[in-house]
Order: sequence, then C-alpha cells, then structure tokens
Amino acid sequence: MIIINDRAVDCNAPVITWHESGLQIRPPRGAGCRREEPRKFVLHWTGGENPASTVFRTLQSRGRLGLGVDFCIDRDGTIYQFLDPAIHYGYHVGWRHNPSSIGVEIANYGFRWPVWLKWNLRKVPERARDREIYKVRFRRVRHYIANFYDVQIRAVFALMDSLTRAFPEIERKVPKDAKHAYKHYTLPRKEAVNFCGILGHYHISKRKTDPGPFLIEEVDRYINEGKNGYVY
Ligand SMILES: [Zn+2]
Repeated sequence: MIIINDRAVDCNAPVITWHESGLQIRPPRGAGCRREEPRKFVLHWTGGENPASTVFRTLQSRGRLGLGVDFCIDRDGTIYQFLDPAIHYGYHVGWRHNPSSIGVEIANYGFRWPVWLKWNLRKVPERARDREIYKVRFRRVRHYIANFYDVQIRAVFALMDSLTRAFPEIERKVPKDAKHAYKHYTLPRKEAVNFCGILGHYHISKRKTDPGPFLIEEVDRYINEGKNGYVY
C-alpha cells in the first residue's frame, strides 16, 4: 500500500511509508505544496548502492533547501515512500518540472565511462558486482550501464500502475517519435514540460544519464505487452 491523499492505495510491491520509517520529506526542505495534478513520473538512479535511509539523508543535506523525491526503491525492491504525492512534491528535476512530477530514485550505481572502464570497474561497489552490465551507445558516447535488479524493475512497474490509476493525467507512455522510435535524448524544453507520461531524468536534463535507456524500454514493453517475463 502507498499513501495518496491520506488514503491507502494498492501497490503490488513491498512498501515502507514515512509512518514506518520516519523518513519524511516536507516543505520547505526538499519539497513544495502540490498545486497542480501530477502528469509526469520521472525515473532516476541514485548513483550508488546505499540504502533508502542514506539516500534520504543525502538528498536532504544538499543545498540550502535540500533535495527531495517522492519514492525510493531499494536494492531489494522495497519501495520507500517519503511524502504524499497528492499533497506535496519533491525537488528532484528542477523548478520547471517538479510541481507537475512524481519522482522515484532507484538504488543503482548507474554507469562507468568507457575510457576509464578498466580503472572504473575496480571502483564498482562490491555488492553491485552481480549487476548485469550492458554496453550502449547513448548520446553519441559508448556507455557501460549497470542494469537494475529484477525486483527493482518489478517495483517500478507496480508503482507506475498505482500512480497512473490514481493520477490519470500521467499517461502510460514513454517518449517516442511518430515512427515509434525511442527518443533517448533530452527533449526540447517545452516538449519536456508538457509531456504527460513516464520519463527518465535524461529526457529533462542534458547533464543526466539516469536511469539509462534500458529501463525506459522495459517500461514501454510492460505497458504494451504486459508483464514481460518478470514473474510476480
Ligand atoms: Zn536523476
């Protein structure tokens, strides 16, 4: 169960809310008051393998007003809910997008730059060495991206199902062009602001790579084909 507008809403994954964890993000630190209906669900990776409690503390300590995100998915697929997205919104993608977005951070160290691969692979966190690494040309550069664990991908699907039911303005779609090819790049600002659906941080910010193209394609396959081999 996640909490939306003070009510418990079904979610097909384990959830720990701020009531149980004590990890609550609220205005003015890392969050604002929701005044418009959310229309975007933005996916991130944390850039590390730390647990949700550490992610929470790190976000809250950034900058004068801190940062915040609505949800965080841990390495074991548990969803931590930090705020009620019908009432507040987290500061995770910049002021233009935050008020209309719901954000989720997913624990994953993310990627290593190819030129430094040998040096960097030694720096892959020890407990993440079992992550599958895929090679992809992304924004004209070859990346080695660490995949999410299956339990984390299942949690993303479950959270998306709950949120799109609760907030119908979040359409079940990812950015694609007229020929149904993925737009794996940063969208023009106006298009990104007005988009209604599921996005990666890289669709919004040129400086960001998270959550990598594979998760966006998995979400799309789940939307169009159902559970896509991920056993519940
Ligand atoms: Zn991000």
